[in-house]
Amino acid sequence: TNISCASTDRMLITDKNKIKNKFKKINKMKFNYQESEVWFVTGAQLLYGGDAVIKVDAHSVAMVEALNNSGKLPVKVVYKGTANSSSEISEIMRNANGDTKCIGLITWMHTFSPAKMWIHGLMDYKKPLLHLHTQFDEQIPWSEIDMDYMNLNQSAHGDREFGFITARLRKPRKVVVGYWKDADVQAKIATWMRVSAAWADSQDMLIIRFGDNMNNVAVTDGDKVEAEIRLGYHVDNAPIAKLVPYVNAVTEEEIDALVAEYEKIYDFAADCAKGTEKHLHVRQAAAQEIGLRRFLEKKGAKGFTTSFNELEGMTQLMGFASQRLMSEGYGFGAEGDWKTAALVRSMYVMGQGLPGGQSFLEDYVLNFDGSNSSILQSHMLEINPDITGTKPRVEVHFLGIGDARTCARLVFQAHTGTGIAATIVDMGNRFRMIVNEVEVLEPKALPKLPVACALWKPMPNLEVGAGSWILAGGTHHSSFSFSVTTEFMEDYAEIADIELVVIDKDTNIREFKKELRNNEVYYMLNRSLR
Ligand code: MN
Repeated sequence: TNISCASTDRMLITDKNKIKNKFKKINKMKFNYQESEVWFVTGAQLLYGGDAVIKVDAHSVAMVEALNNSGKLPVKVVYKGTANSSSEISEIMRNANGDTKCIGLITWMHTFSPAKMWIHGLMDYKKPLLHLHTQFDEQIPWSEIDMDYMNLNQSAHGDREFGFITARLRKPRKVVVGYWKDADVQAKIATWMRVSAAWADSQDMLIIRFGDNMNNVAVTDGDKVEAEIRLGYHVDNAPIAKLVPYVNAVTEEEIDALVAEYEKIYDFAADCAKGTEKHLHVRQAAAQEIGLRRFLEKKGAKGFTTSFNELEGMTQLMGFASQRLMSEGYGFGAEGDWKTAALVRSMYVMGQGLPGGQSFLEDYVLNFDGSNSSILQSHMLEINPDITGTKPRVEVHFLGIGDARTCARLVFQAHTGTGIAATIVDMGNRFRMIVNEVEVLEPKALPKLPVACALWKPMPNLEVGAGSWILAGGTHHSSFSFSVTTEFMEDYAEIADIELVVIDKDTNIREFKKELRNNEVYYMLNRSLR
């Protein structure tokens, strides 16, 4: 920013406020899918003459147009032409790296593309890569095929040559195989696009920590320098004292307006409705929500963590505000858990526009019940109401932990369905992502539990699911989603080039332990290979 920009900003502040009020419902936390692009490059060469390349080009144009018109892809595909030489490939890769709209690249070798041409470009390329192994025609034209057709339609051949060089370079990538018009091929591309969006989003992500990591807690801590190198996001500390003035500056009128919004969308427990003594705590929570949002907007942060032990100057733990901001798209982790905050934000971006929702959650209480044994997921307060099956109810209760005091909160139970719980832990020499597929069950009534919760059965069952999670060193906190699947996390781990272990219906403990041991060796050697 330069001085003239800053002064223009100040002059326009009234107009800005007008616009802001007019479009108050527009969520600024959304990732801009509309403005993003995925580039499509077709590998070819000039061996078969210019006419062959012209046909390759026409096929590519038709393919990209059809992909864009399919309505299945969340990001626009932009065709960048055929790449016929090392210098052309390098130029495309340099441009892709430098273009902020470009969030990833799809490559396809229509004909044979000698892969030494790709070495320099691929070595330079820094963004997500998808290698599409497909063919323009679905089936062999049996009665018409001749050598010219064979020389032109060589993906079966060219994509293997390209596959070798990406493997030789240890280049992270997703390989999608199948006919390009098939729904499942397009679905795999769409998933990778969503993950590439979350990846782009995390490259300038700022997570604000209000207070440090909870004292003595190991699993939520980790190497923030390595996180910025490997995952892109940055973590900054903000003493809670810096937030307090923002909360105190919120006006009574602003609180009135927000509480009116609460009254429209939530039920209220009788003892904290307007006119009661406890209603004050709801108003304090509303002030926290407004102040916290303003603070995060000013910092340009996409996520935050809180600490129940560091609340000097605050009236209560900002649990209600955390619930509301998570629903808006902010990442959140409790007790300084910045890794979970970042992952909750990334899951929000991946799942944007899909049904479901994501939330920070914590393993609390076990319920042994044979093959339906489950874990009650909850937290002191901070669970995203997007995963509810019922209308959330505003309640006010005393919370005797740390400096939390009497707090407002939204109480609800998550609906049933399948989802995933994911976490990233710092293993010292690498980050390990652990994903567990879970089935959310219907809990019995919990009349004395004044917090939001979910009850789930980890796949394949509690014994193997929780056993594997514990063997892998998984957190008690997790980032849960109804919207995204294991495939999303697999794409994320591939792009980030971090370890991934999946616990699903096929997991068995003996094989899982072997995988952990093998990975230990792999990650000791892996970094020396590129
Ligand atoms: Mn916790």
